[in-house]
Amino acid sequence: MVAQRFEDWADNGQVEGDLLAEIIRNQRLFPVFQPIVDLRSGECLGHEALIRGPENTPLHAPYHLFNAAIRHQQLHRLELLCRRCSLQRFATAGLPGKLFLNVSASLLSTPDHQHGFTAELLQQLGIPLERLVIELSEQHPFDHHGLTRAAVEHYREMGFNIAIDDLGSGYSGLKLWSELRPDYVKIDMHFVRGIDQDSVKREFVRSICNIGHSLHCQIIAEGIETVEELHTLQEMGVRYGQGFLLGRPDAAPAIPLDPLAIRKGYVDGSRAWRSVNTETAQVLARPIPAVAPDDRLCEVSEIFRQMPQIGSVPVLLDGEPVGIVRRAELLELFSAQYGRALYEQKPVSRLLRQEVLIVDCDTPLEQVSQLITEQDEGQAIQQELLITLEGCYLGMGSVRDLLKRITELKIRNARYSNPLTLLPGSVPINREIDALLQKAADFHVAHFDLNGFKYYNERYGYSRGDQVLRQIGGLLARHIDPAHNFVGHVGGDDFIVLFRSRDWYEICTRILADFEAQRVELYKTQHFEAGGFRSRDATGTERFQPLLSIAVGVVYPDPYKCTSHHEVAELALEASRGAKRCDGNAIFENPERFLRQPWREQAPPR
Ligand code: C2E
Ligand code: MG
Ligand code: MG
Repeated sequence: MVAQRFEDWADNGQVEGDLLAEIIRNQRLFPVFQPIVDLRSGECLGHEALIRGPENTPLHAPYHLFNAAIRHQQLHRLELLCRRCSLQRFATAGLPGKLFLNVSASLLSTPDHQHGFTAELLQQLGIPLERLVIELSEQHPFDHHGLTRAAVEHYREMGFNIAIDDLGSGYSGLKLWSELRPDYVKIDMHFVRGIDQDSVKREFVRSICNIGHSLHCQIIAEGIETVEELHTLQEMGVRYGQGFLLGRPDAAPAIPLDPLAIRKGYVDGSRAWRSVNTETAQVLARPIPAVAPDDRLCEVSEIFRQMPQIGSVPVLLDGEPVGIVRRAELLELFSAQYGRALYEQKPVSRLLRQEVLIVDCDTPLEQVSQLITEQDEGQAIQQELLITLEGCYLGMGSVRDLLKRITELKIRNARYSNPLTLLPGSVPINREIDALLQKAADFHVAHFDLNGFKYYNERYGYSRGDQVLRQIGGLLARHIDPAHNFVGHVGGDDFIVLFRSRDWYEICTRILADFEAQRVELYKTQHFEAGGFRSRDATGTERFQPLLSIAVGVVYPDPYKCTSHHEVAELALEASRGAKRCDGNAIFENPERFLRQPWREQAPPR
C-alpha cells in the first residue's frame, strides 16, 4: 500500500477510511513547528504548529489528511486531536514565544468549543492563555463556512489572540479584517513570492502594512524563501516573517536564522540526521546582533549598552564572520581622556580581532571542545565562538555554555551507558527508537548477538569474555557512521544498531568479515585450528563448541504500526532467533514489519 501512488489509492475510499480511522484511533499525528521571526530584531515571536500524518502514507500532508477527514465525516474529531497533539508537543518541547494554531472556521460554532476545550487543555499543560494565537483562514482549504464574529469574540474573551491566515488568497479578506479586528494578519505567500521583482505586489503589501498600522494589527509575511524577498520585506518595514529561509517546519525546530545576518549567497541546506544524543554547536548559538567593519564604534557601544551580558559583538562582511569586537577593549579605548569623542566615529575595523574560533553549527560539541583546547599554548583561551551555517553567521556561543553542556551530557551518558563498552545502554536506545517512531522515520534495526558466548566465558574466563565484548563494541563503532546511524549496547552480548543509511547490509557484511579476521586473537592456537573446543552443556553432555560467531537479526519496523520500542524489540528478537538458526556468522532479515497481537486488535480507541 505504501508504494502505491496516491491517485490509485485515493480511489479506494474504504482503504482511505481505514487508514484515517487507524490514525485517529492511535493518535498517529505528528505536529511540526515553524518559527515566526521579528524581521527587525531577529527575535523569535513564536512558532506555528503544522500537522503531519504518518510519513510514507498518503495522508502525510495536511491537505490530504483534512480532505480525507471531510470525506469520512471526521473533520471535528481530527481537528480536536490535532489541537491536543500540537499543544502537548509544544509544551514538552519547551518552545519559546507564542503558539500559532490553525483552526478550521466551522469548528468555532460547535459545542466542543463553547465548553472551553482548548482553555482547559492549556491549563493542564501549564501554558498561559495569552501565548496562544488562533489562526483563522479567510479561505480555508477545507472549509468555507462558520467564521462568525460571535464565535471569534468567544475566543477573544477567553484571552486568546486572533490571526487571519492567508490574507489575499480569497475574496473576503478585507471584510473579515474589518469585522474581526485580529491581532495579527498573515499575508499569503502569493504576495511574498518574487516580491523583489514585482512592483504591484509591493504596492499591495505596502497598503496592508498601512492598514495594519492604523488598526494596531501586526503583519506577518508568510513563505519567505529567498534573501531578496526577505530584504525587500525588511526595507518595506514588514514586522514579522515566516518561511523556509528563516526556518523549516520541524518536530524540534532549530533556532531560526537571524534575518539581520542573512546576506546574499545564503543557501538553505538540508542537515544530516543525527542521534538525539548527539548535540552540536547549534545548541550554543545565541542571536547576538552583528556589525560590519565599516560601521562606527558608537554602534557597537550601543549594542553593549543594551546587552550587558555579552562580552563581544560579531563582525560580518557580506554575512560571513570576520572577527569580533571585545567589550573590554572598547571600554579601554573610550575610557581614556577624550577617548569616546575621539573614537566613537571610527570604523569597527579599528578594534577588529580575528583570533576567534569559527565553527559550523553541525560540529559536534566534543569536537568544538577539542578545537578550543588545541589552540596555541601561549594564546589565552578564548571565551567565545562564532557559529556559522554554510559559512554564514548563525549566532555566538560562549565557552562557558559549552563546558556546562558537555558536563551535563557526560553525566547523563555515564548514567545510561554500558560500563564495559561505554556505548549507550538500553535507556538511550529505547529513547532513540521512540523518537524515530514519533517522526515516522524510515529505519532498520539490527540486533547483534554472539553465538556460543556462554561457553567461551566458561572456557576462557569472564575477563577474556569482557575483552571480546569490548572488541565487538569497538568494531561496531568503527564501521558505523554516527552522523547517520546509532550504536548501542543493551547488555551482555546484545548490541543494537539503528540504521538510517540504506547500505545497512553492506555495513553488516563488513563488520562480520572483520570479526572473522580478528577471531584468531581470541583463541589458543589448538582451539582456533580445530575450529572450536569441547565443553559440557547444561545437561553434562560433552559437545563440540564452534568458534564464536555473530548472528545479526534485522528488522524494518513499520512506524505507523509499531507504537513503541517494545514492539520493535520484539521484532528484533524474532529476527535474531532467525539469524541464530543459521550456522556461524549470519545476517537474517525479518520480513514481518509488525507482529500481530490479539490484545492490540481489541484495544479501545484512545
Ligand atoms: P498555513 O496555515 O497557511 O501554513 C503554511 C504552509 O506553508 C505550511 O504548509 C508550511 O509548511 C508552508 N510554508 C511555510 N514556509 C514556506 C515557504 O517558504 N515556502 C513554501 N512554498 N511553503 C511554506 P503545510 O504544513 O503543508 O500546511 C498546509 C495548510 O494545512 C496550512 O496552511 C493550514 O491551513 C493547514 N493545516 C496544517 N496543520 C493544521 C492543523 O493542525 N489544523 C488545521 N485546521 N489546519 C492545519
Ligand atoms: Mg496557518
Ligand atoms: Mg498561511
